[in-house]
Amino acid sequence: MIKIYDSFSQTLKPLINHEKTVQLYLCGPTVYHYIHIGNARPVLVMDVLHRLLIHQKYQINYVHNITDIDDKIINQAIAQKTSPNVISEKYTLAYLADLKTLNIISPTMMPKVSDYLPPIINFINSLINASYAYISDDDVYFNVSKIPDYGSLSHKKITDLIPNLELQKGAFKNNPLDFALWKKTKIGINWNSPWGQGRPGWHTECVTFVHELFNGQTIDLHGGGIDLKFPHHENERAQFYAHHQTELAHIWWHNGHVNLANEKMSKSLNNTVLVKDFCQKFHPNVLRFLMLNRNHQQPITFNSLTLDYAIITIKRYENILKQWTYQLFINNSQQVGNYDQLYYQAIINHLSNNLDTTNTITVIETMIKQIKTAIVKQDFSQNQKDVFATLVFGFEILGFNFQFGNYTSNIKLKIKKWEQLKNQKNYQAADQIRAELQDLNII
Ligand SMILES: [Zn+2]
Repeated sequence: MIKIYDSFSQTLKPLINHEKTVQLYLCGPTVYHYIHIGNARPVLVMDVLHRLLIHQKYQINYVHNITDIDDKIINQAIAQKTSPNVISEKYTLAYLADLKTLNIISPTMMPKVSDYLPPIINFINSLINASYAYISDDDVYFNVSKIPDYGSLSHKKITDLIPNLELQKGAFKNNPLDFALWKKTKIGINWNSPWGQGRPGWHTECVTFVHELFNGQTIDLHGGGIDLKFPHHENERAQFYAHHQTELAHIWWHNGHVNLANEKMSKSLNNTVLVKDFCQKFHPNVLRFLMLNRNHQQPITFNSLTLDYAIITIKRYENILKQWTYQLFINNSQQVGNYDQLYYQAIINHLSNNLDTTNTITVIETMIKQIKTAIVKQDFSQNQKDVFATLVFGFEILGFNFQFGNYTSNIKLKIKKWEQLKNQKNYQAADQIRAELQDLNII
């Protein structure tokens, strides 16, 4: 049974308590820029959950939205002297490319806000009709005082929130905590609505997706970065509750901060904090390792030590995968194996326990050690092959993408030649073939 920590109840809860499709929602990016490596954390962790659910043969509806309507996009368009559409399309494609680079399994749906204006307007209308929202002279606002436990998701007291918000109090709001569902404007991209030209508010966009794409049911898990808990998720929950008189999500999942502010870190990264730049400089597995070698709810501070460790570790893993494959080949043996039940169960148990990726990596390390010893001892028994098969499974379920063992007939010939030359002590010729095999990324 998969259990995940729920930020609302602050307890570990079973993710699935039904036989139906598993319903997941993860807040997506606002597409006005390339994403930096911190933005990749939620989607990387959710990818592990997605992989675990696929492995366990669940039906999954995983929605990850694209916020392509936002003031940030409009401002970026003005700055770049182009249209908001050009900006949002460019960075949507860039985001999809980043997900591909990071070896993320595609979510079931990645809806764009701009395709959902009629449902968003209907949703706002229903809140107005039910007296949870009101039309003021400037915008349409949600009436927070109608939700008695408003603030409970983020564990905040309303009285503590008001002083901070007093400054932003709109002239036409009843309460400083009330938030805009529809922003009336004729500037930038805008749509017609019963309340005049304007744009939807961000909190309403996400909740409309949940409302529309899961048939109005309480979903199994709603996720996002810890920064989104308040006000974004609090406001999503309030609107859903107003509409359905029930909770939006069974589990609210939040990942910890990624702190990149450290000066040394920026230096060792040469300021390559964008995912696309990072993945050009380092293997995408390095970023995945940095994210997964830490409990997902804890903050991560990247420094040059953790980065170096990740680079070395990924190289070490890759070498073992290649060495084992190579050794089997020259020993005329085949890698066929079932999962080693002990290691396999350990991986499943750790991941089922609040996606404990760090302990899963510890299991991987144990298997790496065992395979290393097997190579030294030239032990290619079935038992070791089973461990290797489980090791590969461990990498796959964590989403690592290693290339190894794709031997074409040409490569096979080269390997045989190299072994032959070494046996003949013809080291000069052997070295040349070794260099070729290295260039081909075989050894
Ligand atoms: Zn959202």
